[in-house]
Formats: sequence, C-alpha cells, structure tokens
Amino acid sequence: MNKNTAEKYITNYAVSDDEIDNAEKIINELQAEIPNYASKGHGPFLAAIYDKNGKLIVKCANTVKNMLCSNNHAEINAIKEAQQIFKTYDLSGLDLSLYITSEPCMMCIGAIMWSGLKSVYYGVPSKKVEEITGFDEGFKQDWLEEFKKRGIKVCGNIAAEAGEKALKKYIDEGNDIYKPAR
Ligand SMILES: [Zn+2]
Repeated sequence: MNKNTAEKYITNYAVSDDEIDNAEKIINELQAEIPNYASKGHGPFLAAIYDKNGKLIVKCANTVKNMLCSNNHAEINAIKEAQQIFKTYDLSGLDLSLYITSEPCMMCIGAIMWSGLKSVYYGVPSKKVEEITGFDEGFKQDWLEEFKKRGIKVCGNIAAEAGEKALKKYIDEGNDIYKPAR
C-alpha cells in the first residue's frame, strides 16, 4: 500500500512513504516515553528535533507544571534548546525537522513559524487531544495552508493511536490538566 494515498495522514505536501515510516518510528518512540516523563511531573507531550541526516539534536517534554511556566510546551522547549546549540535564532539554514507527539497548539504554531524549522511531523490531532484531555489547543484556522505558503512542510496523524493511549493513561492516572481557569 502506498501510504501517501492513505487518507489517514493530514498533510500539506506530497510526503513520501520513507518519510512516513521514519516519522512513525520516531513518534512511536516519543509516545512510549510519555508515561515516564509524566511520572516525573512533566506534561503528556514530547517533541524532538532531528537534522536532515536523521541525527537527534534535542528531545524535550512539556515542563509547564514542573517549571511553573505556561509557555513551556515541548515544542518551545525543543526550539529554544536547538537555537542555543546552534547559536542562532534562525534555524532555517539547517534543514531541521520537528517531531511531536500531538498537533502543535496555537502558541506552538507561532513559535514554529518564527524558528526556521522546515518540517513538522505530529501525532494526535488537536481535536482528539481536546476530547481526551480537556486542554484548549486554541484556534488555528488553515494553519497547514499558511505553513505551506511559508515553505514549512507538515504531516500529521502519525502514530496517533499510540498517542491517544498515552494521553488516556495520563488522564486515567489522575494527572493535572494544567490550564487557566475560565
Ligand atoms: Zn503548544
């Protein structure tokens, strides 16, 4: 089966089967690590940045609860670390890819846009994240199309089943839904 043609994936470009296989492997590994991080006080989201040769640059979890900062989503933590490693605020010359256990929220979409990252692969779509956890992922109209205009490739719904299980486990274990009161 050509995975490209499967409607399973949400994408803004012609993603190759090799890319999907690689992203599936990485995101599955990240999903499997969520319970471990959650047990140490992290939120149930992980992000990793890889270079074009498949070398891991950084891997970060969400640290909103344990670092007491609502900005500390996994994606933002990973972007900040990568920029420190490469000593630049503009990662665009490095052809880096971001792998995330769930779709980026509205804040992280902004952070990704400003970072110079070239590709984004994500697991659980926001709608599912909201259904399972009660987090508010924000309003993100046509973000895949907007990223396409800016030359940023996106492919989502990768290893999403494993991600949904990890999020359910997070909730079932009584972990915090850290969000502002409304
Ligand atoms: Zn976020």
